[in-house]
Amino acid sequence: MSNAVVVAMDGPSGSGKSSTSRGVADRLGLRYLDTGAQFRAMTAWMLGHGVDVHDADAVAARAGEPVIVSGTDPLAPTITLDGADVAVEIRSEAVTAAVSPVATVPAIRTRLLELQRRIIADALSDGGIVVEGRDIGSVVWPEAEVKLYLTADAAARAARRNLENGTGTVAATEVELLRRDAIDSSRAAAPLVVPEGAVHLDTTPYDLDQVIDLVVGIVEQTVGSKAAR
Ligand code: C5P
Repeated sequence: MSNAVVVAMDGPSGSGKSSTSRGVADRLGLRYLDTGAQFRAMTAWMLGHGVDVHDADAVAARAGEPVIVSGTDPLAPTITLDGADVAVEIRSEAVTAAVSPVATVPAIRTRLLELQRRIIADALSDGGIVVEGRDIGSVVWPEAEVKLYLTADAAARAARRNLENGTGTVAATEVELLRRDAIDSSRAAAPLVVPEGAVHLDTTPYDLDQVIDLVVGIVEQTVGSKAAR
């Protein structure tokens, strides 16, 4: 693809955002950024340093300290915290349970927003990037050429998450997903919303390859029609 492109991929947990984003980035030769992993790394740091994640002031006071570095290869994304690989740790139940409260804290969002915008700006000189999260098309990069909002039935999302993580029952995973959705959608700072101009895609009836094909088609069509203008 000749013109640099930013693809904003928003949606709730388990909607297929991660696998779709990586697959699309790989097919189109774009970088990939998982912003959820950055919020998870922040949370792992707070837990590791004994900060009460339900005390917003305590979390805000330490928001400037963690050093988070995201590797943007879609085939091998990485995340380090203070120089250590935390790819496994950030998927723990403890981090998953604490991440949404941490993500409501404005100082945390401001800190990560700066990091995210820097990574996106860098990627623009390297073809572009697919960025997944909850507020990418609405707040992080509203000028994204392509905005997608992925959803799926709660039961389908829970079943997918369980396949990926392999812990607990699907019913328990569904309760946890819905709990996080509720916090993410109702918070004051950058809530999960369908961004203006986003294509809303319900992935429930499709398998991963079909969703990747659909999204690649949307990106090619959008970028092609812009280039033709
Ligand atoms: O995508 P993932 O489920 O790993 O995200 C973990 C949590 O990080 C979300 O439930 C949400 O609270 C937070 N998050 C966010 N904004 C983003 C990405 C993730 O608030 N852009």
